[in-house]
Amino acid sequence: MLEMFSLKGKTAIVTGANTGLGQGMCVAFAEAGANVCGVARRSCQETKEKVLAVGGKFIEVMADLSSTEPVKRILDECIKEFGGADILVNNAGIIKREDAINVNEEDWQQVLNVNLNVVFFLSQEFAKRAILKNKGGKIINICSMLSYQGGIRVPAYAASKSAVMGLTKALCNEWAAKGINVNGIAPGYMATNNTQALRSDEARSEAILDRIPQGRWGTPDDLMGASIFLASSASDYVNGFTIAVDGGWLAR
Ligand code: NAD
Repeated sequence: MLEMFSLKGKTAIVTGANTGLGQGMCVAFAEAGANVCGVARRSCQETKEKVLAVGGKFIEVMADLSSTEPVKRILDECIKEFGGADILVNNAGIIKREDAINVNEEDWQQVLNVNLNVVFFLSQEFAKRAILKNKGGKIINICSMLSYQGGIRVPAYAASKSAVMGLTKALCNEWAAKGINVNGIAPGYMATNNTQALRSDEARSEAILDRIPQGRWGTPDDLMGASIFLASSASDYVNGFTIAVDGGWLAR
């Protein structure tokens, strides 16, 4: 039965692979048997070492995902090295904290570019190639609690993550019949760079911890189970859905 969770012989592309949740998912996929293509604008050396340590194969594709310019190259380089791409995790994301009244157009656009626009066009490129080969695929979009809620002082981030959850459903509706599963994972409050500012603000950190039923920040390891499930054939009839991995946050 556990065979259905195996990623043996599969290749996964993970964006934002150099740190945090992206790095954790690269290692999880490698442990489950997949080849990993890590996409990042900075060196993925640490991720590469962790993947190799669990017996996986890893290539790095350097790309700045604030524009769609590298989209085709990412798929080309992955396919050249590993012969295909079966799983795409749209994980790279940025957050900018500012009162809504003061947000400037450049910051707004930058967040929307990385968190939404490139997510769509990279998914489209992945789907084009999967459809051409008639072999299906798995797309996992990293959403957020702010796919459900508004947050405080992060309007562009909330808008982008709400849109990504909507996009997950929209793409499912068009591509499910082609054998492509498009699902999301909504992490709760996880201890990574993304939440550094929140965790170092004592009052905010305490308020957040008080509200998490499990009483702790999540870690990259907490995403392993959900990401392997959605990347593997164990989730073949799960489509268009976003799974929260949030220590119970949304239940409050
Ligand atoms: P992180 O800041 O460590 O990781 C973000 C990743 O995105 C990094 O690898 C970074 O290099 C990459 N990235 C950002 N801009 C990029 C660009 N222009 N080009 C290429 N790569 C770029 O934080 P994280 O928590 O690991 O975030 C991963 C994802 O999880 C993000 O989409 C984030 O919004 C989401 N998320 C995080 C939390 C949390 O609590 N940490 C909660 C919900 C959702």
